Amino acid sequence: MKINQYFLELKDSYLFSTIAKKAAAHIEANPNAQTLRLGIGDVTRPLAPVAIAAMTAAVADMGVAATFKGYGPEQGYPFLRDVIQNYYVGKDVTLAADEIFVGDGAKSDIGNILDLFAKENNVIIPDPVYPAYLDANIMAGRNVYFIDGNEENGFLPMPNALDVKPDIIYMCSPNNPTGSVYTREQLKIWVDYAIENSAIILFDAAYECFITDPSLPTSIFEIEGARKCAIEIASMSKMAGFTGVRCGYTIVPHELNFDGGNINKMWNRRQTTKFNGVSYIVQRGAEAVFTPKGIEQCKENIDAYMANAQIIAQTMKDLNIWHVGGKNAPYVWLKCPNNLSSWDFFDFLLEKANIVGTPGAGFGAKGEGYFRLSAFNSKENVTEAMRRIKEVL
Ligand code: PLP
Repeated sequence: MKINQYFLELKDSYLFSTIAKKAAAHIEANPNAQTLRLGIGDVTRPLAPVAIAAMTAAVADMGVAATFKGYGPEQGYPFLRDVIQNYYVGKDVTLAADEIFVGDGAKSDIGNILDLFAKENNVIIPDPVYPAYLDANIMAGRNVYFIDGNEENGFLPMPNALDVKPDIIYMCSPNNPTGSVYTREQLKIWVDYAIENSAIILFDAAYECFITDPSLPTSIFEIEGARKCAIEIASMSKMAGFTGVRCGYTIVPHELNFDGGNINKMWNRRQTTKFNGVSYIVQRGAEAVFTPKGIEQCKENIDAYMANAQIIAQTMKDLNIWHVGGKNAPYVWLKCPNNLSSWDFFDFLLEKANIVGTPGAGFGAKGEGYFRLSAFNSKENVTEAMRRIKEVL
C-alpha cells in the first residue's frame, strides 16, 4: 500500500494551535486579566430567528410520514436553489438553477473542485490568503506560484506580477486575512487575463455579505466575461452565522468549457458521485435566511460586526498604524508597529494588553510583519481591546 506522498510535503499547520496554546498558557498565568480574543475568524452572534424557526419546523417535518425526507437532490433542494438564484438577481446577475450547487460550506468545495483539474496545471495563489488553497493543492501535487500582496498594491495583487502560464487562479475578495476588496476594474483585468490564458478563476466570495460600498462587486459574475472563466464559491458561514450549521453554494456556469470537458457537467458528476447533499433541516434554515426577513435579521448581525471593524480601523488610524480592511470586511490588517515580526507583536499584545490576535505570517510569507484583528466579537470587548491597545502603543 502506497500513500499519497504529497501529504508529506505539507508543512505542519501551527498557526491556530500555537495561538491557542499561547493564549491558554497566558490565561492560566493571568487568571484575572480578562484576556480578549480578537484572533478568531468565527462568528460569535446567534442565528437569525427565522432560520431557527424554519429549522425547528423542518425537524417536525421529519417526524411525520407525509413530510419526512430521505436522500435529497445532491445539488440542493429546488426551494433553496431558487432563493439563491433570486439573491443573485439582486446583484444583477442571472443564473440558471442548475448552475447553483448547494454544499456544506466553502472549505469543502475549495478542495473538492480540484478533482476536476489535471495535476500538471499551474496554480496561482495570492499571498497572504486563507491557507486552505495552498494545502489543498499541495495534497494534489500541483505546482503553486504566489502573487504577492504588499502595501504598494494594497494587498490586491494584479496579473502583471506573474511570469508563468496560469491555469488555476485563486481569488479571495473580500480577502481573508487582509480585508482588501477588488474593484470592478481590477476584477475585469483578472477576467480578461484568465480568458486570454485559458485559465480558470476560483473566486472565493465567503465574505461578500460584508461589502457595503455599492461600487464594489460582490460576485465575480458582475464582471463581463466571468461566465467563461470563473467559478464562485460562496458560504453562509459569515453571512448567516452558519459556521457550525454548515451550508454554502458553488456557482458553475454552463459556459465553462476547457480541454474537451464542460466544467458544469463535470462538477455535477463529481457531486452526484461523491456527495449526498446537505441535510433537509439545514437547507430549510438556509432558505429562510434568503427571505426578506432573513436578510434583514442577518444584516443586523453583519452591521454589528462592521461597527466593530470600524472601531478597530479608527483606532489604527488614531495610532497612525498602516492598515487596510475593516471597511467592507470584518478583518483589519495592520503593519506591526516598530517593525516587530508578526509573532513578536502577537506576544507583545498578549503580554502587555491581554489581547489575542492573529499573526500575519500564518497566512503566507508576505504576511510576515503584519497582523490580523477580527471584528467577530461583542462591541464591549472590541471597545475595551482598543482602549488597551491605545494604552500600550
Ligand atoms: N474561505 C475563506 C476565505 C474563509 O476565511 C473561510 C473560513 O474562515 C472559508 C472559506 C470557509 O468557509 P466555510 O465555513 O463555508 O467552510
